[in-house]
Order: sequence, then structure tokens, then C-alpha cells
Amino acid sequence: MTTTTPETNRQIIFKSRPEGWVTPDCFEMREVPMPQVGEGEVLVRTVYMSMDPSMRGRMDAAKSYAPGWVLGEPCKTRILGEVAASRSDAFAEGDLVFGKVLDWADYSVVPAKAVHKINPESVGLPLSYHLGALGMPGMTAWIGLQIAEPVAGETLFVSAASGAVGQIVGQIAKLKGLRVVGSAGTDEKVAYLRELGFDAAFNYRAAGDDILGALEKAAPEGLDIYFDNVGGRVLEAALDHAKVRARVVICGMISQYNLSREDTPGIRNLPHINRKRIRMEGFIMSDHVDRRAEFEADMIAWLKSGQIKYRVDVAEGLENAPAAMIAMLKGENFGKQVVRVGAEP
Ligand code: NDP
Repeated sequence: MTTTTPETNRQIIFKSRPEGWVTPDCFEMREVPMPQVGEGEVLVRTVYMSMDPSMRGRMDAAKSYAPGWVLGEPCKTRILGEVAASRSDAFAEGDLVFGKVLDWADYSVVPAKAVHKINPESVGLPLSYHLGALGMPGMTAWIGLQIAEPVAGETLFVSAASGAVGQIVGQIAKLKGLRVVGSAGTDEKVAYLRELGFDAAFNYRAAGDDILGALEKAAPEGLDIYFDNVGGRVLEAALDHAKVRARVVICGMISQYNLSREDTPGIRNLPHINRKRIRMEGFIMSDHVDRRAEFEADMIAWLKSGQIKYRVDVAEGLENAPAAMIAMLKGENFGKQVVRVGAEP
């Protein structure tokens, strides 16, 4: 352990399950003695923690594709950190590492196999990108687009387009020669999409009940691909506006995550799926981790050449992680939401 490692560790505990929207009392900060590092383990000092919409599913008792958080234990997330102590030959103090299931805490002790060193080719890019463009959201965009089988000249629509996944979806689609339309929840986010080179963008909140009207204006030619991050009324509008043989890739449905089944509005126009011969397919990025090296090579090149830009929204301090998660679920993040817990090395 380094001389600067404190004797105690702050953790954020999963205190109670939310009913509907997540509230601050679902979390509790506690201070515990710094954990001992066992044989084959490493102590990781958290630099950045990722805030992901899928964390909402981990708070429910019902099983999701990812393991749920355990009541009374630290919340878990993806972390970019620095090895503060190592009892593994694979890591030395000072190594920069990424781990998928670490604690919301200043420090976590994990088996060495739970973390890996960051790709040396990525040196020079912002460290927070390892939780965004270069991490799970970036790979979600990369793989999800392949599932859509895009063809140059086609029109793609992506929702939550300024977010962690959406901003990458739109930019890769542009690189592949598609016409790209995005929706987002504020005028500022819409302006950012235009800066990124989206061909058209609209504020779905300002559109009120006429999301279809806004979509028709932005993409008069109709949609070949809809990359769905939100579900609900935006999905309904996209199905209405889809062309024959359109592909709808279901990445996520954040508009439903805080609603009970009874409160979730149905999608009223599913008959379009057969009438228009639409292919609708869901996917989970983690099913495709065998393609990680291929993704990283593409993304590092795009980021380094400036062909892809990436916006990160940084909340400061472990104590502000619950507020950052709640804000993200309400659409208050602008770009990939991370929490800076400790200083960059
Ligand atoms: P974002 O960074 O896009 O943040 C969430 C955004 O969702 C908010 O900023 C907000 O943007 C939008 N939003 C929130 N509530 C609503 C609502 N009621 N209606 C419409 N939009 C809403 O998150 P990510 O990019 O990390 O995730 C995007 C989607 O991708 C999520 O559904 C997530 O679950 C999914 N996902 C799926 C993965 C997979 O493997 N399939 C992996 C990673 C993410 P705005 O202001 O524009 O409304």
C-alpha cells in the first residue's frame, strides 16, 4: 500500500429499493477500515466511476441480464482507477486499470482477474473515455449499428442522441455514409448534435404530442434504421415513420425504467412490424466481448484522428454519485455521465 493510502475507505451502500423513481434515501455513505489485500488481489483507487442507465435495473428485486445490487452492500459499477497495492504478479502499483464490477467507493479490493490494464494505444486520450467512447457505451454503439446492417445512403434515426451511446451511434453512421437524424431532450443538446455533423436533430420534449411530426420534418424520406435508446412514444413515432424493410435495433428503453408495468404505456402500432416487414432486434453489448480488440482499434483510430468527438459530463466527488445517477435517469446529463472520485494520476 502506498504511504498516501488512507486508513479508512468511503463506500456508498445500496440502502433501499426504489419504488418508481430513484431517490437519495436509496443510498447511504459509510466509512469502513481500508480493506486488506489478499494473495492474488489488487487494491484499486477509484479515479472515475461510470453512471449507466442499466444500474436502475440492478436496484430491482426482479432479475435482469446483469446481477442485481445487494442491499446493505456497496453499489457496483464500471471503474477506471489506479492500482494502489498489488499482491498479483500481473499488476504493479501505479498501473491504470479498468474493472467492470467495482464498488462505489474511494477504494475496492478485487481479484486481479477482475481488472485489466488499459490499452497502451489509448494513451493520450482522456482517461474518462474508458468508461464512455472507449468503453461499454462506445462498444454498444459500434455493435448495435452492425446489427442494423447499415448501407451508405440510408437514413438512421437515433434517440437519446447526445448521450453516452447515442453520440457515437450518430457519428459512426455518418462515417459509414448514412443520413443521420437524432432526438434529444433540450435545445442545447440538439445544437450539439448539429455540431457533431448530424444532418438533422430535434427536441422531442419541445415536440410535445407531435413527435411524429418532428420526425417527419427531420427525415421526410422515412427511416431505414431506428436505433432505440428510449422506447415509448419515440419508438411509436419511429415505427410510424419506418420504411418497408426497416431495421429497429432495441438498445434500451430508458423512458420505462422508472415506471411500474401498470404505468407503462403500450406501443400502439406494432402491426407495422409485419405490414412493413420490419426487423426489430434487441441486443446486449456484453454478448459480443470477443470483438473487443476490433472495436478498440476502430475507436482509438477515430478518436485520435478527430473523426469522432465525445462529450463527457463529470460530476465531482463520491458523495455526489447518487445525485448524478438520479439526474441521469431524468435526462439532466449532457454526454456520458461519470463521477470523478479521485485525482487523475
Ligand atoms: P445516456 O447518456 O443517453 O443518458 C440517458 C439519456 O436518456 C438522458 O440523458 C436523456 O436524454 C434520455 N432520457 C431519459 N429519460 C427519457 C425519457 N423518458 N424519454 C426519452 N429519453 C429519456 O445513457 P446511455 O447512452 O448510457 O444509454 C442509452 C440507452 O442505451 C439506455 O436505454 C441504456 O439502457 C441502453 N444501453 C444498452 C446497452 C446494451 O448492451 N443493450 C448498453 C448500454 C446502454 P434526453 O435529454 O435526450 O432525453
